Amino acid sequence: MKRGPKPKNLKERFDDSYKKMPNGCWEWQKGLHRGYGQFWITPKERIGAHRMSYKLFVDENMPDWSIDAQINHKCHNPICVNPNHLYLGTQTENMKDRFERRTYEITRS
Ligand SMILES: [Zn+2]
Repeated sequence: MKRGPKPKNLKERFDDSYKKMPNGCWEWQKGLHRGYGQFWITPKERIGAHRMSYKLFVDENMPDWSIDAQINHKCHNPICVNPNHLYLGTQTENMKDRFERRTYEITRS
């Protein structure tokens, strides 16, 4: 009996799912949900790909989901999973950030 390849671990599967872009962003190549990359931990459980990145590279004790601990993007690229472009913030900060960004876009145009 021939054995198939050894099943890949989470980290290997994760590394297979993004592409490093010239601007430094690691753009998610797999499924998206509401504009954010999704990583399937098991066939039934999924987690935001950027959150998974934060767990893998920054803080493994990060909860899978928390309203008080949002992972935000410094690069404003929601499909980016580069841990160096991610920072931990609260929902409120995230809203403020969006607001400021919108203001910026309006003034610029
Ligand atoms: Zn980025």
